[in-house]
Amino acid sequence: MEDIYDLSLAGEITKNDALNLLDSNPFQLFDVADKLRQEIVGDEVTYVVNRNIDITDKCMINCAFCSFRNSIGYEMTIEEILDSVGEAKDVGATEICLFGGIMPDMDVNYYCDIIEAIKNSYDIELHSLSPVEIFHAAQTSQMSTKDALKSLKTAGLDTMTGASAEILVDSVRAKICPKKVSTAQWVQIITEAHEVGIPTTSTIMYGTVETWEDRIDHLLILRDIQRKTNGFTELVPMTFLNENNKMGNESTGVSGMEDLKLHAISRVILGRDIPNIQASWIKIGTRMAQVALCCGANDLGGTMMEDKISIAAGASHGEHLASNKMKETISAIGRVPVERTTLYERV
Ligand code: SF4
Repeated sequence: MEDIYDLSLAGEITKNDALNLLDSNPFQLFDVADKLRQEIVGDEVTYVVNRNIDITDKCMINCAFCSFRNSIGYEMTIEEILDSVGEAKDVGATEICLFGGIMPDMDVNYYCDIIEAIKNSYDIELHSLSPVEIFHAAQTSQMSTKDALKSLKTAGLDTMTGASAEILVDSVRAKICPKKVSTAQWVQIITEAHEVGIPTTSTIMYGTVETWEDRIDHLLILRDIQRKTNGFTELVPMTFLNENNKMGNESTGVSGMEDLKLHAISRVILGRDIPNIQASWIKIGTRMAQVALCCGANDLGGTMMEDKISIAAGASHGEHLASNKMKETISAIGRVPVERTTLYERV
């Protein structure tokens, strides 16, 4: 099997080699990725007990792929957010992820107030915001993105999400999210976050209009950033859920086989640079996530408790997978479940 790829070259693959691998028998690719996963991170599969809190669906950005924007029409108050955090603490959550749309009045103080309120009330990891929120908050507050990041860190932001990356190829972004930060802006803000001591996840949202070549370019950009900053904790592949938004029939989403190939090629490209590859059960379902964990992935993501964004997009796997269900899902494929923190420390 290894004759299609030399395992000792983990992370050194070129774009052409990656494209050739994708053209080979997919089961050979899955086998290579699984062997690499075994060699790099072993048989443990991690998960985090967390809660997503989608603070508002009001948004001025209008991405073509989004089904969440204005789907309900709500904006949570700080008191409601605190109640949600309290509920998460009650079931043992160690992490809170704040997501939401972007409105003109959301400046740096708006986010700092929410972060401080949470941190003053609860001892919990705040894994929140992404480059697009930082960009607009900084612009509204007339400060640099780096200063905005410093203020948010001082307020209590522990780690940031690598969301809003979608596909880091501007010709693709022009079609799916023309009003969002450009590739260069996303890279700059993520790099600045790492520089000021805010680690982040990295993401890829695939299955709209991009090609395999675009996906490989995206993964290579993430690899390059990681080699400079070492600030990424993981890669979260997110398949495009198009049940409620076919982007004017431009996208039918991808097959399960393509989901698996994406996880596998991510392992091969990111190798030891980004050793944690997530299989997101909320996006692909627990059964497909179990298979992805045998094709290069080593993390099952979070218990979530809620995910209005995926539900609005048509996710049919529920919003909450309790800790015991995470363990069952992992043990059922003969792997070892380990609860982790945001930064991949054992709980
Ligand atoms: S994906 Fe985010 S930024 Fe884009 S329209 Fe939806 S809520 Fe707004």
